[in-house]
Parts: sequence; structure tokens; C-alpha cells
Amino acid sequence: MGRIYNFSAGPAALPEAVLAKAQAELLDWQGSGMSVMEMSHRSKAFVSIAEKAEADLRTLLSISEDYAVLFLQGGATLQFAMSVLNLAAPGDTVDYVVTGSWGKKAVKEAARFAHVNVAADAADSNYTDIPDRSSWQVSDNAAFLHYTPNETIGGVEFHDIPDDVATGPLVADYSSTILSRPVDVSRFGLIYAGAQKNIGPAGLTIVVMRRDLLDAKRDDVPTMLSYKAHADAGSMSNTPPTYGWYMAGLVFEWLIEQGGLDVMAQRNQRKAETLYGAVDGSDFYQCPVAPRARSRMNVPFTLADAGLDATFLEEAAGAGLETLKGHRSVGGMRASIYNAMPQEGVDALVAFMHDFEQRHG
Ligand SMILES: *Cc1c(COP(=O)(O)O)cnc(C)c1O
Repeated sequence: MGRIYNFSAGPAALPEAVLAKAQAELLDWQGSGMSVMEMSHRSKAFVSIAEKAEADLRTLLSISEDYAVLFLQGGATLQFAMSVLNLAAPGDTVDYVVTGSWGKKAVKEAARFAHVNVAADAADSNYTDIPDRSSWQVSDNAAFLHYTPNETIGGVEFHDIPDDVATGPLVADYSSTILSRPVDVSRFGLIYAGAQKNIGPAGLTIVVMRRDLLDAKRDDVPTMLSYKAHADAGSMSNTPPTYGWYMAGLVFEWLIEQGGLDVMAQRNQRKAETLYGAVDGSDFYQCPVAPRARSRMNVPFTLADAGLDATFLEEAAGAGLETLKGHRSVGGMRASIYNAMPQEGVDALVAFMHDFEQRHG
């Protein structure tokens, strides 16, 4: 069997060219006689891989030297706690805007270490829209404002940056939309993203952080949870996830070869329009998310008859379209169409959806 179109939300599809390059270099990285997996993280070879990856990410996102770029572990979930531990002193207030499941989890972790003010919560719309900024109740002294630019499960995405309402720096969980389009990093205090959606394999977490925020606001932060310690050590205060770092570097190289994030943004917009167009153009399929807040990365949709869900998934898999089952908390279907999903994959899904409707609608 050849490769299928994998619509998984994460770990997710990687560009085939990246996998092929990793395969070609697997046993012998560029004449070193060893695999990247076998290299000391202190070796000249690995340090060159690490530095190139960081430089390419800086190029892609136009990240200035005012920002540190860290290659960490623990996933976005660890960042829920780590960001608060470092950026807030005990007793400080932190603002959170909750537009879905990940934001709720972030609030829960933050509440262990600071006073959380939920400035806005999309519960009223059942997390299918973003509350109007005029309704946000921000604190006047918040250490930061945290939000989730793209809620991966509900498929709710911000299409602008809410720094106009934040009183402190913005902290953003970019896990499922980083690198999908250009973003002005200078408007953020801290951006974090687990790699397994749009960067590389699971096990690596990217942090982009304003250097003047690096010093922790409290003195009991463990070394492994200290941004300052990681920044001072070039993300090598202990053994970093070397292979994930290398794979991320291959993805960054691939993105630059494609023409960078402007090109990716155009492709992603076209893919999303194709899929939402198919859903909106039919009574058989529905997307619960308000058009203004629809994600370009994760597209949830339901069938008119939920009794057909299992058949849809089975027939889709038979057509080489996999992992379309919606998250258990939302139901229905979800198609994740990150950078590595080609337009052809979305076209194939839309063709299948038409065909399925013809036969079952
Ligand atoms: C997947 C995801 C997470 C959780 O990431 P882990 O790497 O599993 O900790 C958090 N936030 C968002 C927006 C996600 O998509």
C-alpha cells in the first residue's frame, strides 16, 4: 500500500520530501558515518544541525535577536505551567481567554501558580466562536494575557492578534497553527508550540520568547522549567530531543524551499476554502463554527445523520483518507489540513464527500 492522506490532528502528516530526506540520511548523516540519532548533542555535526534549524526558523518567522528560540520537551502541556511559573510571581493575576478545550486546560494549570482571571470564555457559543473583544474583562495589572490562536479540537482560530486589549505581554499557544502563515512575532511576549502538529515529530516543543522576559519572577523554578536556564545553555542544559530537532530543521528547510510562509498561507487558505466550500454547499454536511472564527488548520464537520458516521469513516479509509474521526468531545468529523497536507488531499476528500452524499444523502 502507498501513502494515504492522513488528516490526523497530531501527531500529524509530515511532508513526504522531508521523510524521504530523513530516510536517505538515516544511516549516515552527510558522511559522518552515523545516524543523527547516534550523535552526541555536543558534537560539531549536531551543533551545526541545531544552529541551522534555529536560523531557518528565525528566517521563516522573521524573529529578531530580541527573542530567544528554545527547543524544549514536555509538549505544549508543560508550557501551560512553565509559562506561569516564569512570568508570574506568586499572587500575580494572569488573564486567560478561553475559546476551547486547550485554553481550559491552560487555565487549570495556571491556577496552581497564580490568580487566574478568565477575561473571556466562549462557553456561550459552545466554543464555536470568539467572544467580541469589547466584552473581554481584562485586569489592569495582569502579568500576561494567554490565549489559543487555534483551538485544534473545536476548529476555532483567531485571524488577528488581540494585543490591543492585553495589558501585559501576550502569551500564545501556537501548537496547531504555527508556520501556517506569517505572524508578527514582535507583538508577543511568548509563543509556544508542540511540534507534532505543524513542525515535526512529537517530543519537541518550540518556544519563542522576548529576552527581557527570560528571568523568572520567582526563585523556586526548577532548572528544567527555567526559560533562562534553557536560553543560557542554548537549549542544551540537558540532552535535548536531538532527532526531533533535526526533523524540525528538515521541515523548516522544506518550508523555505516552498517559498516561505506567504506561500504556505496562500496554499492553506485555498485548502480551507475548498473544504469549507464543500461543507457549506451541501445540506448533508455542516460546520458548527462561526465563519469568522473558522480554523484553516482543523476543519470539524458533521453529517446530517450521525448514524452514518461509522460508514463514512470506513468508506473514507477505503478511499485512502484516514483519521477523519472528530474528537470524542465534539463528535462528527475533523479534517486537519496542516502544511504537509497537499491540495490534492483536500480535493480527494471533497470528491469523496460528494460521492458519499450521492449514495447516502
Ligand atoms: C495538541 C495541543 C496541545 C497539547 O500538546 P502536547 O504536546 O500533547 O502537550 C496543546 N495546545 C494545543 C492548541 C494543541 O493543539
